[in-house]
Amino acid sequence: MKTKLIIFSSLLIIALALFAYKNDKKIVPEKQAWTIVIHGGAGGMSRENTTPEVDKEYRAALLEAMNVGKKVLADGGSALDAVEKTINVMEDNPLFNAGKGAVFTHEGKNELDASIMDGSNLAAGAVTCVTDIKNPISAARKVMTNSPHVMLSGAGASQFAKEQGLEIVSPSYFYTDKRFHELEEILKKEKNGTVGCVALDKNGNLAAGTSTGGMPNKRYNRIGDSPIIGAGTYANNNTCAVSGTGHGEYFIRYTVAHDISALMEYKGLSLKDATELVINDKLVKAGGSGGVISVDKSGNISMVFNSSGMFRAFSTADGKEGVFIYKDEGK
Ligand code: ASP
Repeated sequence: MKTKLIIFSSLLIIALALFAYKNDKKIVPEKQAWTIVIHGGAGGMSRENTTPEVDKEYRAALLEAMNVGKKVLADGGSALDAVEKTINVMEDNPLFNAGKGAVFTHEGKNELDASIMDGSNLAAGAVTCVTDIKNPISAARKVMTNSPHVMLSGAGASQFAKEQGLEIVSPSYFYTDKRFHELEEILKKEKNGTVGCVALDKNGNLAAGTSTGGMPNKRYNRIGDSPIIGAGTYANNNTCAVSGTGHGEYFIRYTVAHDISALMEYKGLSLKDATELVINDKLVKAGGSGGVISVDKSGNISMVFNSSGMFRAFSTADGKEGVFIYKDEGK
């Protein structure tokens, strides 16, 4: 009788444990809501120095780009596709300092940088100092997926992009009157316009990408933070995805994007606290201006900058959305 009771209670315990396990599995969502955040550069823009026309133009351009990534995510596409496709739109828009609207170097050329990172496996790709690849972010993605390397530069990067079937353009494609005249008036005021995108897809994967023409008037094949994994771009499914914009030398020295992820991973900081600490404390003390857009694995977002403005926008699966430029909005 006693043995029977023991067997019966053991079976009951096993059955209950199995039931709890199954239920527990059900509670963990297999798919989660998507989130996208983009930036079009940080800099000296303010309500006082921006005309209503320019204000409107940038907001529309941000929305247009974000809508492309939104659709990818809403349709169940990957965070990586959303990041690449969104950045492609901004690269093709001369309003932004990336692709078509890239700023000029001291010598009057356009040298473009871009990087992309997959938070699911820490794979990454980047191109730097490229002069004839129409969409550098797509070349960065090809480096990630179709080469054993992380970063390619200059002529080698172009040759690789060509071999991968990407569109190659004449360096004159990147010439825009506006940017050229900006070079002539350089240093009059802070410039901006780098683009970036971070996304969380329905499968819980994070991705980040950044594309830029770099700092105007740069010399000697200067490379900024945008193509450097850990400085201008970082994504890790365990923490967050980050894309930066600002004075690249500081972002490199302070490994800004990875620092934010590391503060979350090792110190347990929230995304908000980690981004605030790095951008509004560490960078400010160092004298580095700029900002980041970021999303964590739960879909929380943060768009922090210490300059007077940052072109930025976000959208989530539950219908929250916003497009912002100045400091006094989007709180
Ligand atoms: N971070 C970029 C660079 O230093 C420039 C920018 O974001 O405006 O190349």
